[in-house]
Order: sequence, then C-alpha cells, then structure tokens
Amino acid sequence: MSEKIRVLLSEEQVNKRIREVAQQINKDYAQKQIHLICVLKGGAMFMCELARRISIPVSFDFMSVSSYGSETTSSGVVRILKDLDEDLKDKDVLIVEDIIDSGRTLSYLLELLQSRGPRSIKLCTLLDKPSRRVIKDVKVDYVCFSIPDEFVVGYGLDYNQKYRNLPFIGVVEFDEKE
Ligand code: 5GP
Repeated sequence: MSEKIRVLLSEEQVNKRIREVAQQINKDYAQKQIHLICVLKGGAMFMCELARRISIPVSFDFMSVSSYGSETTSSGVVRILKDLDEDLKDKDVLIVEDIIDSGRTLSYLLELLQSRGPRSIKLCTLLDKPSRRVIKDVKVDYVCFSIPDEFVVGYGLDYNQKYRNLPFIGVVEFDEKE
C-alpha cells in the first residue's frame, strides 16, 4: 500500500507557534533555569526548535521510552530504553513531548519523574489529540496545537521510522485502491 502526506500544519505555522510558546515559557520561568527533558525520538526536532527560542538558561537531558502497542496506538505499558543522565533533585523540569494521544505514556513518565524530587515539573507538547485522551487527569501546561484524531508525521514524528525530517506536520493517507 502506498501512502501520501497531506499538509496539516505548514512550516510557517509550526515555527510561529513554537516562537509564541517559547515566549510564554520565558515569561513563566523568568529568573529561573529550566531543565528540558526531551522524550526521544519524536520530541527531538521540537525540543531543538523550542530551545533555540528560549532566552533563559536551560540544561538538556534525554529519555527514550517505548510504549508497547500496535503501529498507531500505545498500550500504556512503558519500557525505558534510555534513562536520564542527570538527577532531577531541585530542578525545574519541563518535559518536551511530540504528541499526546491517550496520555498513557505521559502519565507514566510524570509519575516516574515526580518521584525523583524535582522542584517543579511541567509538560510541553507540540501536538495534542484531546479527543483520544484515556487518562483524563494529565494536565498539559503548554500545547502548541490541538489537532483532530488523525495519524500525523513530520517535525520528529514518524510512520515506520519515515518522515521524521519533514519540516511541517502532515497526515498520512493510504491509497485504498492498491
Ligand atoms: P499516548 O501514550 O499518549 O497514547 O501516545 C503517545 C505516543 O504515541 C507519542 O509519543 C507517539 O510516539 C505516538 N503517537 C500517538 N499519536 C501519534 C500520531 O498521530 N503520529 C505519530 N507518528 N505517533 C503518534
């Protein structure tokens, strides 16, 4: 089956919105230092673009988790593939995610990282699919875009490891005729 990509959010729209969210973060954390935690691999491009526009001091760390499930949904059973390098004690942590769908991955991560003693912990996501939420009590502090229930790629997000490098957000459309 072949697939096509339909643009959902253009490069200009995404970059403009990331700038706005970064400005909000600069205001909210004025006089502080934030510890950005990138959730790999999907969060990598967003984290870079966001961090470039943050003007307060930041430090970076990276975590890789895999959520068991099918190609397009997560099960909530999360396995850590790469843990953080640094501890979180007394840090103001901002988790940077690509997309929140059911909320299961984030809910697991939040509980895990909260137990490591950060001063504060907030969540920032490029995309949110509110209609898909299963874990209702996950509060997301910064959302760049709320999108409909469609499978998206680009800006770090993949389909079978493809399309992460697209500079826009697109919807994968499959050619039914084949
Ligand atoms: P959740 O645990 O919130 O259901 O799922 C979060 C993870 O599922 C994301 O980090 C991402 O890896 C994957 N995911 C959910 N929706 C999409 C989507 O539309 N496109 C892609 N590429 N991944 C998605």
